Amino acid sequence: MKRNEHITMLHGAGGIVMHDLVKNYILKYFGGVENADFEVPLEALDDAAVVSDIVLKSDSHAVKPIFFPGGDIGRLAISGTINDIAVLGAEPCALTCSFILEEGLAISNFERILASMKQTCLEANVSIVTGDTKVVEKGSLGGCVINVSGIGRRTEALEKNLSIVKHFRDNFNARWILDSNLKPGDKIILSGTIGDHGLAVLSAQEGLNFGSNIKSDVKPLNNLIQRLLGEVGGIVAMKDPTRGGLADALNEFSEKSKVGILIHEEKVPIKDNVRAACEMLGLDPFEVGNEGKIVMGVLKEKAEAVLQFLKNTKEGEEAEIIGEVTEAFNGVAMQTIIGGKRIISRPLGDPIPRIC
Ligand code: MG
Repeated sequence: MKRNEHITMLHGAGGIVMHDLVKNYILKYFGGVENADFEVPLEALDDAAVVSDIVLKSDSHAVKPIFFPGGDIGRLAISGTINDIAVLGAEPCALTCSFILEEGLAISNFERILASMKQTCLEANVSIVTGDTKVVEKGSLGGCVINVSGIGRRTEALEKNLSIVKHFRDNFNARWILDSNLKPGDKIILSGTIGDHGLAVLSAQEGLNFGSNIKSDVKPLNNLIQRLLGEVGGIVAMKDPTRGGLADALNEFSEKSKVGILIHEEKVPIKDNVRAACEMLGLDPFEVGNEGKIVMGVLKEKAEAVLQFLKNTKEGEEAEIIGEVTEAFNGVAMQTIIGGKRIISRPLGDPIPRIC
């Protein structure tokens, strides 16, 4: 970015432009800290950090509008932070919550958000233990912005998962489920359909009616992930494909693990109404954000068992093995339905603004 440039909406959209801002500016000032306690440091740019065996995450939520089909900013804020802690293999144990409220927000709407946050905390079995409230003048917040931070702990389920991976893989010594753990041969599993959240928010932003109900998938996934680790195991890497969608998450895996990933288009679950809406609007569903899905790298020996486990859960009933890790090339490629191959590059940014 040159000196006369300014922040644009793309700087918050989870693709190349945001990654460049983080790498060239934020890491330049905050990175490079030498501290043996920082097991997963800032530079890893994983879903959360690990400090002294505690997983730590902070995430602000500025979705517009604050209520959308299938969810609201409160449910999103709780789920987003919980899921980022959970995908490292940790169990979230306490959250903080900071509100920035806009002058004019109806108290009844604030209360609706609080009730939704409480409900989401109950589903996830996690509590809010501290927080803060500020108010700003009427402007463009759209009602409120919420920051939720949290900590998570190691669990027996994580240890069991890691010991299963060690059994099948020589020289595996990772202590957490990290984007950098993939090896050729691993299978890529997606827990369900893509694009639902982004399109649900877009329909609320634009007052669009796609002819059928598209609802956000926003939900906390920590219970599902802990059961998956403890009852099946064999998971090496895991992400929630939020801003920038599946395309961005797979490119993160590929870049950090220094491997190629081949995806099979016909295996990627997309709801018919989401596919139709994407076609109508010229959007690529691979680049649209999700808030209730996980994409994971799994040992090939455990892939079928993981898939069957997921298919027997409500959150994962549409799961599929969508591809595999390869050393045949670098980056992410997709075998298309019509028989060709195309590169899935990292998007510039999520095509839909302010979805989280
Ligand atoms: Mg994440």
